[in-house]
Amino acid sequence: MSEVIVRFPPSPTGYLHIGGARTAIYNWLFARKYGGKLILRIEDTDVERSTQESIEGILDGLRWLGIDWDEGPYFQSEFAHEHVTAADRLLESGRAYRCFCTREELEAKREAALAAKKDLKYDGTCRRLTPEHAAEKEAAGVPSVVRFKVPERDGKIGYDDKVLGRIEKEYREIEDFVIVRSNGKPLYLLCNVVDDIRDRITHIIRGQDHMTNTVRQILLYQALGADVPVFAHMPLTLDLKKAKISKRSHGEVVAVQFYRDHGFIPWALVNFLVLLGWSPGDDREIFSREELIQAFSLERINRSNSIFNYRKGDPRFFTDPKAININAHYLHTMPIEEIGEMVRQEFLAEGLWDPDYEREKKDWYLATLDLIRARFHTLKDFAALGRAYFSDEYPFDPKALKKNVLRHEGLKRWLPELAERLEEIQDWSLESTEAAVRAFAEETGVKPGIIINGIRTVVTGQIKGPGIFDVLVAVGKDRVVSRLRKTPELYVAA
Ligand code: GLU
Repeated sequence: MSEVIVRFPPSPTGYLHIGGARTAIYNWLFARKYGGKLILRIEDTDVERSTQESIEGILDGLRWLGIDWDEGPYFQSEFAHEHVTAADRLLESGRAYRCFCTREELEAKREAALAAKKDLKYDGTCRRLTPEHAAEKEAAGVPSVVRFKVPERDGKIGYDDKVLGRIEKEYREIEDFVIVRSNGKPLYLLCNVVDDIRDRITHIIRGQDHMTNTVRQILLYQALGADVPVFAHMPLTLDLKKAKISKRSHGEVVAVQFYRDHGFIPWALVNFLVLLGWSPGDDREIFSREELIQAFSLERINRSNSIFNYRKGDPRFFTDPKAININAHYLHTMPIEEIGEMVRQEFLAEGLWDPDYEREKKDWYLATLDLIRARFHTLKDFAALGRAYFSDEYPFDPKALKKNVLRHEGLKRWLPELAERLEEIQDWSLESTEAAVRAFAEETGVKPGIIINGIRTVVTGQIKGPGIFDVLVAVGKDRVVSRLRKTPELYVAA
């Protein structure tokens, strides 16, 4: 394939939506696969709705995801003169014309057509004006829009969509569409094409929601004498009820920022979003960056809509369970140094960071993260469920207190006694702690499991976790002993 140039052209009117991020990711993968270029273009022509905050949010979101671009960000508004020039060229070459019909006239025509069950498209009144007549009206200051002159011919205009196959439309069905408003501002449809021509875009990979524009845009490419790029329209992302996902109806869960705030690993979100609308053709679900670039192709983008499997209000899942599972997979398998770096950010924000974790306590820090990560789903879990390893102030799972402590009144006595035994251990290790706990259980005549569950609850605040002796070694002798001594207080608390 000759040079590939693709673009991601968000309109900065809100947050970076996961659907928008997926568009960016598909374009990025395609560019990387073919050694091409990804251009970032901020389509800020809608001045009223575009905000600086939104621009920054989009850039931050892309950077966080690791989606890098090769050119830009360009700003559509900076090329306003080119959009106007293109419209003028179309007027001069007779591919467009001024339309002086007023809104009221157009409305009346529409109603008449509706009543007569006739075609609703613009009837071409001003297309038939002589150039002199049009010039006269213009000179007299009659307001006008500019309409594109759709070729009057039989047959169809079409394109080979890389995802959907051949798409065609009868010329007769296409109305002479407006390309410049009466205030002189070119419409988005035209600006988008002018920018894509200037940026030499070879492939346009975008959502199916833009398909209503495509044939009209192809007409504009042809009229402007430019090559028509290849189009690939991606499926939409819908919820379980087949409605489009949006912040208004689904809340923050549709924004990339939400995943960052909920302890997602950026690549895990990329991996999840790619699968929302594309499949490798086999049952693989986890891809490294290189594997994904290799495997990706436009042809394997799904034709049918993707389902974002999220049940609002379901307390078990704060987002699509598949996204959580993919995140957990990365959390469990990534090199622990990389996890250590991400958890560092979490700990800094939580006031749990100790600078020694990257100096003399580094081995302990990484080994502890490695020990506890197997049950975690997000980076947030380290500071929440894993807090007891890093701080003496840690929460108790209410279930843990009820189940493991209160069920055995004897623990109130046994655990402080055990603390005395443990305090005597000189070489604090898996073996020595295990031997001491088992000997104590035997002497007391209690099942080791009861003691062990009690220790776990008191020392970590949780019901589940790694092997208890690993826990004891990781938490350390002094902390274990002092926590077990405080067991009676937990009975008051529970
Ligand atoms: N600015 C448009 C959007 O954010 C993109 C249009 C396109 O990809 O052609 O939806």
